[in-house]
Amino acid sequence: MAPESAPAPSAPHHSAQAADARPALGLLGGTFDPIHFGHLRLAEEAREQLGLERIRLIPAGQPPHRGAPGSSADERLAMTQLAAAGNTGFEVDDSEVRLIQPSYTVLSLERLRAELGPQQPLVLILGADAFAGLQRWHRWQELFALAHIAVANRPGYDHPSHPDHGGPAQLAPELVRACAGRHSADPSALRLSPAGLVLPFTTTPLAISATLIRALIGHGRSARYLLPDSVVDYIASRNLYRKQNARCSTPSD
Ligand code: ATP
Repeated sequence: MAPESAPAPSAPHHSAQAADARPALGLLGGTFDPIHFGHLRLAEEAREQLGLERIRLIPAGQPPHRGAPGSSADERLAMTQLAAAGNTGFEVDDSEVRLIQPSYTVLSLERLRAELGPQQPLVLILGADAFAGLQRWHRWQELFALAHIAVANRPGYDHPSHPDHGGPAQLAPELVRACAGRHSADPSALRLSPAGLVLPFTTTPLAISATLIRALIGHGRSARYLLPDSVVDYIASRNLYRKQNARCSTPSD
């Protein structure tokens, strides 16, 4: 966890590189327990609206800050691969599943930076619920230097449409401070610098959660049409989520 006395945020670096637009890579991490249409539609609309070249779906191996998932890391990876199949704009990153360590986003971003170089624009896509808890994430203040952050609306959660001002959401003061001066409403700005902007955007609201899906299946009810049929079939074939009721989980880092 970062110390409370946060260093002044470094300014987004787009001015010096304005002529140097590069395709931006979108990153959507999650426990994906299981992956559902809320995730997939978020990824698809982010790709289109933000002009991202591709979206990398990154299932967490050992998600911190929450109970053990209802399926194994390998099963969640397999469901993510099934869900992403057939969409050339999506790719699946298995690195967090393969690592024997908690899946902290800052470590994944450092790994991606090392892999893709310092100039590659990276866009971390978060739902409003995940963004609202960002100040609890491991080394969270370093995230801004590693990626842009695009924040989507999610039913049931305030959307921080103007983080500079706190927005309509009740964001933690330290998070509001960290976002000061970073707000952008222009997706094309994401391609002009590698990291540092916070861009709220709006997607089709889908009140779907993995918690709801686990609860439905746990009670013997259908979860069909909330997630891809291929994933529904995989869950049935492995008998996942059947012996448990919904677990309350908190947004994970
Ligand atoms: P759980 O119910 O188990 O907590 P979840 O459905 O919230 O899971 P996660 O894997 O924790 O799914 O979410 C990964 C990311 O996707 C987070 O940034 C989250 O905000 C976002 N997300 C998940 N579902 C939606 C949705 N329906 N609309 C918008 N964003 C979503």
